[in-house]
Amino acid sequence: MNDNMNKRETQLILNELGIIPNKRLGQNFLIDKTIVKKIILESQISEDEVILEIGPGLGALTEELLKFSKKVYAYEIDFKLFQYLKEKFSQIENIEVINEDILKANIPPHNIIVSNIPYSITGPIFEKVFYNEKPPRGILVIENSIAERIFIQNKYKNFSRITVSFNAFMIPVKKYNISRFKFFPAPRIDLSLIIVKPREDINPFLLSDKNKSFFLRFVAGIMPYKNKNIVNAIDLFLKNEKVINFPKPKILQYLKNKNINNDKVTKFKVDELVKLSELIFELMYETLSI
Ligand code: SAM
Repeated sequence: MNDNMNKRETQLILNELGIIPNKRLGQNFLIDKTIVKKIILESQISEDEVILEIGPGLGALTEELLKFSKKVYAYEIDFKLFQYLKEKFSQIENIEVINEDILKANIPPHNIIVSNIPYSITGPIFEKVFYNEKPPRGILVIENSIAERIFIQNKYKNFSRITVSFNAFMIPVKKYNISRFKFFPAPRIDLSLIIVKPREDINPFLLSDKNKSFFLRFVAGIMPYKNKNIVNAIDLFLKNEKVINFPKPKILQYLKNKNINNDKVTKFKVDELVKLSELIFELMYETLSI
């Protein structure tokens, strides 16, 4: 493959396999070897590391990952691509290609995720692979608009749901823009390569499944009201949760007792919102034993 393009080669293989790239599955294949090199360089894989690749497609990234790691688990949902990869890597020992939906998979332990992910399920993928007690490092190609929301630093006005959820578990390290024309077919969206690493100080509240899922609901529930004061946003969140026994004055008093000002949601930092979710959780579940 020359460094510039292997668009024709990709088209040929897809034709041979009878695959028409499926938008719903985010099938936009990397056709530029320099991006693959950049991803490998940024991954800083050591040879005892295990890699998770989500959606290997035609294996453009996979074949390089195999050279530098102990093992690659490659999850591909498309059966034709899975068969192609099985054949392509039939002589290679340190790969397991798995024909499964990553969102349903019971993924073996791994150190790092290197992947050009299916863009339409970025949120659920993050939740599955990163919002955990010991998340792996990540080198990912994702939609640029999502990357921007993750990398908002200290611009709390631009906070969104994914900014808060992601930054509660992970540290965004670097981001590079990538032209959409480095993929075939070219997607409609702009893309970014992001390098992220796990936080070492994830709030212990987030380490149980029940609490974590409350936190994610809480963030999703207050962010639509991010220009309101926190008490109003919490009030609307609780109403949407069908919790009716916490009138606004009661929430206001509760927060006051905890030394939390009734500021706009955008004034709160990520860690303060995690703490706040814990307080509201306690208020709802412990006071009332719901
Ligand atoms: N890694 C390849 C590349 O860079 O050329 C392909 C990347 S393409 C953006 C996304 C890949 O994810 C496709 O091969 C698609 O079939 C696969 N995929 C989509 N949804 C998936 C899912 N839920 N689980 C596993 N693979 C999935």
